[in-house]
Amino acid sequence: METKLFSTSSEDINNAGKILKNGGLIAFPTETVYGLGASAYDADAAEKIYTAKGRPSDNPLIVHICEKEQIDEIAEDVTEEAKMVIDTFMPGPITIILKKKNIIPKTVTAGLDTVAIRFPSHNVARALIKAAGVPIAAPSANLSGKPSPTKARHVINDMTGRIDGIIDGGDCNVGVESTIVDFTGNKPVILRPGGITYEDLKNAGIDAEIDKNILKSLSANEVPKCPGMKYKHYAPNADVTVVEGEKTVVKNKIKELLEENRNKITGVLSMNDADYDTAVILNAGKDNKEYAKNLFSSLREFDELGVEVVFAEFCEDDGYGLAVKNRLYKAAGQKVIHV
Ligand code: AMP
Ligand code: MG
Repeated sequence: METKLFSTSSEDINNAGKILKNGGLIAFPTETVYGLGASAYDADAAEKIYTAKGRPSDNPLIVHICEKEQIDEIAEDVTEEAKMVIDTFMPGPITIILKKKNIIPKTVTAGLDTVAIRFPSHNVARALIKAAGVPIAAPSANLSGKPSPTKARHVINDMTGRIDGIIDGGDCNVGVESTIVDFTGNKPVILRPGGITYEDLKNAGIDAEIDKNILKSLSANEVPKCPGMKYKHYAPNADVTVVEGEKTVVKNKIKELLEENRNKITGVLSMNDADYDTAVILNAGKDNKEYAKNLFSSLREFDELGVEVVFAEFCEDDGYGLAVKNRLYKAAGQKVIHV
């Protein structure tokens, strides 16, 4: 299949929108990561997303909208707290889970009777959804298991030949996926930490629980509430270990680990002024917000540089920290050293 490269001109966005409307697949930028879209009203189109990504069929897709009015078209039982989130944080990097209406085929929700809904703030994403004229089902535009794409180049590497087109809209700002909050139970539950933090929700008057699985992987027979929790995720080819604790202690521990691994090509994802001398050092940024933005592209970069063993510093447990830590732990297959 030929994969067409689109710019963000209105002509290109309209052409890409037509492809979506006709059942094709288009990758597009959002403020979080690049998404791989298909019409959310077209079961066959949604099915193609799973094939293109190599995604397990029990991992549901998020439905993207470009106007709040579309929520009532696809979901019901919108709770007061869900309404508060819609009013306060949409458009933005948050996804809400509600009871679905029949218009959304079960292929999109992987058989669930709930639907995940997101209203992105990115102008190109919104223009594309508008041009398509239907809500767009879209997971991240990476091959299943790989780090989510935050640059067009990442999508081109993973998806060329597998989808109809890619819109190059530059780098994604947030860098980690949206926060997912489930409103179908007694109390709102954060299933995935992301661009909107627990504290942001709290400040807006939403008292959410944090799902206990956010920092661990599920055992094979556990039923995932957020199916993404079950699978190997964000994993580069390199073997990743997270080293977590106070800055100087983390640094000393990593120096020790580098020494032990001196026969391998090593890399460090560092938040500090790094002075490791035997490793490829990538700068994660000065705080967790920057870490979130740099994380996935750094993981891909280590692979491009042929790095075999990566040590990732994690030093600060603030607002964005939970989102970073969740992705890091998964990238590391839960290999974490607390120092
Ligand atoms: P991604 O592939 O990174 O876009 O991830 C989409 C995430 O949204 C997956 O991890 C899903 O588990 C989650 N998700 C989508 N729909 C639902 C739903 N109805 N209930 C729970 N989680 C959902
Ligand atoms: Mg994904």
